[in-house]
Amino acid sequence: MRQHPPSVRDQCAQSAPYVRTIIGGALDAIDGAAAWVGAITSTMAPAVTELATANARRLIELAVRATPELERVHIRVIPESTGIRVEVSHPGGPLEPTRGSSSSIWATLSSQIQDFGSRHSPQSGHVMWFLIPPREVGDRMNASVAQYPYVIAWTGEAVQQSLTFRHHPEVGGLRLTYRDPHPEDWVYGVLRARHAIARGHGRPQFHRVHTLRQWRCMEYRLCQVCGRSAVDPDTGRTWWLLAADASSPGQGYTNAPPTCRDCIPRASTQCPQLHDTAAVYSAAACEPYAVLGTRFIAGVGGPVPLEEHTAQVPLDAFRALATVLAEQLVVRLAGLRREDLNMSQASR
Ligand SMILES: [Zn+2]
Repeated sequence: MRQHPPSVRDQCAQSAPYVRTIIGGALDAIDGAAAWVGAITSTMAPAVTELATANARRLIELAVRATPELERVHIRVIPESTGIRVEVSHPGGPLEPTRGSSSSIWATLSSQIQDFGSRHSPQSGHVMWFLIPPREVGDRMNASVAQYPYVIAWTGEAVQQSLTFRHHPEVGGLRLTYRDPHPEDWVYGVLRARHAIARGHGRPQFHRVHTLRQWRCMEYRLCQVCGRSAVDPDTGRTWWLLAADASSPGQGYTNAPPTCRDCIPRASTQCPQLHDTAAVYSAAACEPYAVLGTRFIAGVGGPVPLEEHTAQVPLDAFRALATVLAEQLVVRLAGLRREDLNMSQASR
């Protein structure tokens, strides 16, 4: 027994948030559900309809295939002030093995959409989502934007960080927070710097890293130059450019995201965190280790910055984390290996 998709017209008569449910394993319902996402999007931001439809279809198919017939996949389209959020939830665990089909889903998404991710919640199960700003579309990933490194910030993405200290019971003292905090501002127990997501707006800032894109590169092992996967499909290892003297044998820490093999020649000349002594490595694994950011102390007129952009705080240093605005994620690399690529090989 398969659920027949209601007509697009029926669905558009709903009010936000738009919710649709399909049965696990119902492969014949995938296209209808993706078209439904597109129909809703077209009423709010026509320019992004195609982008929303194609990427919703990817997530829906992944979820439907992973969900048994007795269970349900829920699709939500949520208009937000910053864009259109599409969420696909299904019971069960994450669909992101370190290699294979679903990690390439994120790699595909990242080449088209800047804000996406997944989370687990007791009520909804595993939720995969993406958010498309309606205005992003005109110059989305066009050639003039794509020539700049994925990880850098643009002047049009700057946000006023309105910070304060407030008492927090778990910290047992003051904790740095936004004046209008949202739960998603904290990641790994640390306050994360906000950035607008509008790559290509304003001027590229070669010496500033976009916090959310840097974070995403680390968590999904995406290339800091092109935003696609930096995992070598043949070996499962991740390509990394590192300062040649920075690593002890076999391991190391870095705030510079990976660089895919194709981008290695370009990265060494363009990326803000690299310099002439960068050498090519590959890593077997990486895990979050610390954050790099700005440490604050309480002052009369509000938080006073110390160690701007340079405070590195391990993720297990709970007291210190409460005083830091995290700007970059630092990962620990395991199974690090020096690769003997010369640049002509690397650019094959
Ligand atoms: Zn790349």
